[in-house]
Amino acid sequence: MIVDIHTHFPGRPINGAEERYFNELLKVRPGARSVMDDYIYASKPENYWIAMRPVDKAVCFGNGVFVPHVRASTDENKAIAKYVSEYPEKLIGFCHINLDDDNAVEEIRRCVEDYRFKGVGEILAPSTGHPGVLRSWRGEGRETTPRERCFLNNRKYFPIYEVIQELDVPILIHMGSEPRSNLLDVLSNFPELRIIVAHVGGFQVAETVSIMEEKRNLYADISGLSTSPFRLYNCLINAMEHHVINKLLFGTDWPYLGTTAAQYIGILRSMCQPEMEEMNLRRVPNEYMENILGNNAKKLLKL
Ligand SMILES: [Zn+2]
Repeated sequence: MIVDIHTHFPGRPINGAEERYFNELLKVRPGARSVMDDYIYASKPENYWIAMRPVDKAVCFGNGVFVPHVRASTDENKAIAKYVSEYPEKLIGFCHINLDDDNAVEEIRRCVEDYRFKGVGEILAPSTGHPGVLRSWRGEGRETTPRERCFLNNRKYFPIYEVIQELDVPILIHMGSEPRSNLLDVLSNFPELRIIVAHVGGFQVAETVSIMEEKRNLYADISGLSTSPFRLYNCLINAMEHHVINKLLFGTDWPYLGTTAAQYIGILRSMCQPEMEEMNLRRVPNEYMENILGNNAKKLLKL
């Protein structure tokens, strides 16, 4: 069974706040145009189906934005619930909230109990986003908002972790530049909360793997590593050596990052081939790879 644990809901057009963020981002990072294109591409559900053809199950969630919602996007969750219910054999819903939403706790409970969503995410850690862009986008010289001063382990977010732990579903977090000590703090306060770190922590892959060894309830999805096969390979070997490879989960982050599920599965399976040894590289055992592709997620999501 192949499970893609990280896909974004197709069908939502880019909103005004996101457009403003990306326009600011373009000024400092010209390549950001492709992110805008990804949003437009993602607004077509037929593209999602083509991309998900090689997977048996796909976890589908909203688009995390750097813009505080104030109130959780109940409309987006409703739309995801409707979409998922049309394809119950294949799709699994996750609840979309922003940590600063006033109604986050009720929205999570509602989505898990009424919609039968199997997780929460993708949550953006409060420090996520290009710092310079966020500063100018929010207004230079303006007093920082409470959100800007917050980190993942701020006590005001604890009721959110509390309800997720109680409902016994995982939460998927995009860490951005959040210090890893904050993640450890959350994990220590919520020993039964299962956290999935997106992209194995991005540029902090090794740190994430070492925390995974320390904390049994920490998992990671490998979306985003497909664009850099050596980083991916190092991550898998590192995870194997730290005995956490069975907590890695396949994901594509559709429609972002440009690698399709089919391409990514091909890259992963190539790391199990005998040719690896001809290059003096260790092969990743097939058994581990099949676990990453689906068995680990199957267990985590209780499928
Ligand atoms: Zn994502």
